[in-house]
Amino acid sequence: MARKGSKRGKFLTIRKRILVIAIFATLVPSLLLGWITYYQTYELLRVKAVQELEGGLERARRGVDTWFQEKFDGLRVFSSSFVLVENLTRHLQKPANGRREEVAAERLAERQISEFLKLVQDQLPHYHRFVVLDRSSNIIAQFPRLMRPTGFESGWIDRMSPDRTLISGHLSGSEAATPSVSLGVPIVAASGEDLGLLAAEIPLSKLVGILEFSSDPESELLLARSSGEILLSSLSWKHASAGDDVVGYRTEQTSAPLMLERYANYRGVDVVSRSVALTQIPWQLVIERPYRSVFAEVDRLRDIALLLTLILLTGFGLLAYLVSQSILLPLSSLTLAAAAVAEGNLSVQLESDNQDELGFTISVFNDMVGRLRLGRERLEKISITDSLTGLYNRKQIMDSLALQFSRYRRGGLRFSILMVDIDHFKQINDRQGHLAGDAALQQIGTVFRNVLRNTDVAGRYGGEEFLIILEQAGERQALETAERIRSVTEKSELDFQGELISFSVSIGIATVTEDGRDTPDAMIQRADRCLYTAKQRGRNQVIAADLKLPEKGLDWPDKKFELMK
Ligand code: GH3
Ligand code: MG
Ligand code: MG
Repeated sequence: MARKGSKRGKFLTIRKRILVIAIFATLVPSLLLGWITYYQTYELLRVKAVQELEGGLERARRGVDTWFQEKFDGLRVFSSSFVLVENLTRHLQKPANGRREEVAAERLAERQISEFLKLVQDQLPHYHRFVVLDRSSNIIAQFPRLMRPTGFESGWIDRMSPDRTLISGHLSGSEAATPSVSLGVPIVAASGEDLGLLAAEIPLSKLVGILEFSSDPESELLLARSSGEILLSSLSWKHASAGDDVVGYRTEQTSAPLMLERYANYRGVDVVSRSVALTQIPWQLVIERPYRSVFAEVDRLRDIALLLTLILLTGFGLLAYLVSQSILLPLSSLTLAAAAVAEGNLSVQLESDNQDELGFTISVFNDMVGRLRLGRERLEKISITDSLTGLYNRKQIMDSLALQFSRYRRGGLRFSILMVDIDHFKQINDRQGHLAGDAALQQIGTVFRNVLRNTDVAGRYGGEEFLIILEQAGERQALETAERIRSVTEKSELDFQGELISFSVSIGIATVTEDGRDTPDAMIQRADRCLYTAKQRGRNQVIAADLKLPEKGLDWPDKKFELMK
């Protein structure tokens, strides 16, 4: 049992191995191919996105930079005006003691600056306000007069950019109103000294327009401080003054070439982005596009690849299972059949319509078992047969007698035995030679086969003596059969090398007794005794031991038998 179990185990591992090979053969190429395709598509889409975002970013950068440039240039034109320089110079020279006429002169200067600002406002009507501040950031004049801060309340001189411009740190304006930014340029004396600052509050509606125009429908362009705080968005006004919103990363660096930043943006959307620093102002432009809209194709490709792999895996797995079945089932029946043959069962025969090596192996196996069977049958026959006469040998006839006896005990069907001996057989050997003697023995075998029924058996008991078992035969029937053997033998002539030899047999009969005490040996003894008597009384006759009464009416054609007394 243990051996069988371990064999089953081995079959399972073969099946598993086939399955593993199928899975590997499917998974490795499809995953590898899928990964390469995925990676290449991802790279293609990434580079394409970088180029597109870069395009939008560059358009916006040029637009925004130009816009600020124009604004600063415009302010510079006015800041260098004689009215401003003159009045501001006068205003700065105010004495410490503040005499009346000097205070009046100062007031005059301020008024003239205010009037100048009003003139400027007339030329740039969409600007929200103009302010002139002195070196200490005090407001000298403004138009129109508004109470809100200018954005340059402290130390503007130190905050000037290298190209001598200023931008206020925050946007002004409510959500409803157009937000604005304060820009400033210094008012410079002929000596080169900074006298004050000309600042203007400029609406950013145009800037939003530039962002909107530069952006594509899928992207969002953002104007942000270098710290990341969002100032303006191309998508909606709502974020224009949001202030607290930041882009997903805070870097003053522009994006590395061909790389995309990826983060969840201020609205929680997973985006990829690029950024660029503006040249005119210390702010940056950021362009964001939802990750999904950039790489949706890649995700779709990945899903398809996974689905295909799954389908392939299922298909090949099933195929591998069927292949393993088609190999293992014949293999296991072959092994079981071989085990049966090893245990001596030669009746096994395998069926197979396989046209492959297994089918061939099975047909070879069947052939081999067939030959073994034939060989064993031949051996069995040899082991129970007397080679000269073709009758049973002594062992087999004795076994048959024992079998007949046990059958009699069970079923009660009577039977008889005949002990047959060739008369003067020695003379045949002596006169015609041993070969003639052998031929005579063979002749006797033929006589038995002709006379006896199928159910009777005859065997060579030894030398020229034979034992015959007559199934379901009482005394009388045994007598008849014995007499037929005797008379047929007597009449038949043996033709040995042209010489006709005739011989006779003596026969002793014993029928099983009904007292239940009979044995095979006892029967043989009785038959032997009868045979001895037959020899003594002149041979060529039949003697029965167990016929109880000489039956008067018996009329045998040739009374060559007698009853024992
Ligand atoms: P009886 O009538 O009393 O039986 O005389 P018999 O000559 O037949 O008997 P005996 O026992 O004297 O001789 C038997 C002979 O049978 C002796 C032996 O050589 C011969 N014999 C035994 N087996 C064989 C055999 O296989 N072939 C041949 N040719 N002769 C055999
Ligand atoms: Mg003899
Ligand atoms: Mg003899």
